[in-house]
Amino acid sequence: MGELAHPLEIRAHHLLCLLGFRGLGYSLEFTKKMGKVAEELRVNSTFPITILTECDVICASCPHNKDNKCCKKPYSELKVKARDLEVLRRTGLTTGTHISLGTIWARIKKRLTPEDLVLICQGCEWLELGYCAKGLEVLETS
Ligand code: SF4
Ligand code: SF4
Repeated sequence: MGELAHPLEIRAHHLLCLLGFRGLGYSLEFTKKMGKVAEELRVNSTFPITILTECDVICASCPHNKDNKCCKKPYSELKVKARDLEVLRRTGLTTGTHISLGTIWARIKKRLTPEDLVLICQGCEWLELGYCAKGLEVLETS
């Protein structure tokens, strides 16, 4: 796996998934990529990011990505895009802009609580594990 692109394209709700990542995922290739991105982004607050509401660098390694659409279940593409848009609506972040990761974490920290994930992430199989809520909680106390 090579160096990560600068700026790195991340779909909005994946910012939250990265906070809660603990090695689980949809395939070995997927978890390797997610791990690489999470490892880098957790420590490098100056990393430049471009926010998307479509398939990103993580989806690129996902077995559910077909032709750059999320096909995990019927209507998944619509549902994950709605999740991205909800993250943007709540945080005030916007797509297409190059923004430092530190600015993104600060905005998420200010505008989102672990309880918000119940609505934002409804339908996600990983939600009930509580890892993502914990990740957000840790961000808020850092
Ligand atoms: S609950 Fe699912 S969608 Fe929400 S942040 Fe976690 S992994 Fe991502
Ligand atoms: S399940 Fe869908 S949104 Fe999530 S990483 Fe895979 S293709 Fe992307």
